Amino acid sequence: MPLERFMEHRKHIKEIASETYKKIMKDGKKAEDHLEELEKKLEDCTLEGPFQGQQKNFCKPVTYLQPFATNINVTKDEKFERARREIGKLPECLKPNGAEDLMHFGDEIIQGLNQAQAYLKVPAVRTTAHWEIQGAGSINLNVGPGSCLWISCPIEYFNTVDSMLNQRGGSWTKSAVWPLVKDLRTKGIFVEVYEQMAGDMVYVGFGTPHWVQSVGFADNISWNIVVPTVNQLATAALIHDYHMSEPRPENVANWKPPIMPLEYMIWNMVIKRKEMDGEMKRAVKSMLMRSLANAAAEEAYAIVKTCPIVNLADVPDVPAVARCYPCDRVLFNYLPVHQEGYIICFQCYFKRDEEKLVHVVQRYEMKYLVELFDSVIIN
Ligand SMILES: [Zn+2]
Repeated sequence: MPLERFMEHRKHIKEIASETYKKIMKDGKKAEDHLEELEKKLEDCTLEGPFQGQQKNFCKPVTYLQPFATNINVTKDEKFERARREIGKLPECLKPNGAEDLMHFGDEIIQGLNQAQAYLKVPAVRTTAHWEIQGAGSINLNVGPGSCLWISCPIEYFNTVDSMLNQRGGSWTKSAVWPLVKDLRTKGIFVEVYEQMAGDMVYVGFGTPHWVQSVGFADNISWNIVVPTVNQLATAALIHDYHMSEPRPENVANWKPPIMPLEYMIWNMVIKRKEMDGEMKRAVKSMLMRSLANAAAEEAYAIVKTCPIVNLADVPDVPAVARCYPCDRVLFNYLPVHQEGYIICFQCYFKRDEEKLVHVVQRYEMKYLVELFDSVIIN
């Protein structure tokens, strides 16, 4: 739906809601009648598409469902100039893709991760419980005019919340989840509930599950930050594994792999000689070890299958961060190229026994990766 259409609709419902408010304030005895009239007007202006209630979704067929414009990329376009100017006033550590952000080592800009996105809300729209992309932290600015209600619980309670969710058949990634504050508190989970007024900024710490409901008409701008600490890196690695270990459905289109290019980030941290303390080196080195073992296994497989291995420099148009075309997972050192010309991961390729690989593109020589690995010395 064009953004303009959504904005017109939002303006319209704001007008009819404030008319009703004025009527109720003037003649409170007929409040129910005025609300009924508002309900009718809302039903009449329901947007096309998924914005009309359906019986199968447990509501009256014509019920007005609030629309929510999400993930609008704050690009270099002129219309976002004000938003970009406001973001520019923030200290470097809070900016999208700031100088110290670990995403700097990821070789790409991912919308919403290290580039801001806007969320345009009407009252009562919800962002269900989630953690950010691979447990990154996030910054959220409320441009207003209305406020938003935030609920979150510290990462320390993640395991308890996760088991509660599993017991009830929910999933962080496959269903919309709205944990009730009283249920969490009964289990002894510390829950924070706070209102973000217009002009307020919320900083969500890494790995923190949170869920949000708009109170009024509000516009929010948000992005992720990946702070250069060992706890953030370990959280990103854990959540990466959590996603990868989830059962993968037959239809890969329903499976969303982790999108943060974690392997690129850790190798680039070593290539670009990022200063690291002992703890960080230990975490990075253990991640490098897994990556190296995986690369060695993939190289061995290509050799056994007599599939030619070609150098990255000899192949045109290989993206800076390569992903499998069918399933979208990030691939690092060995990039199998399908007979139809696209990059495919070994896991997707195994399922297609009749199909052939043209070659496997090698990003770095294994000898070079081993040297990099050895250069991380833990005292
Ligand atoms: Zn794949």
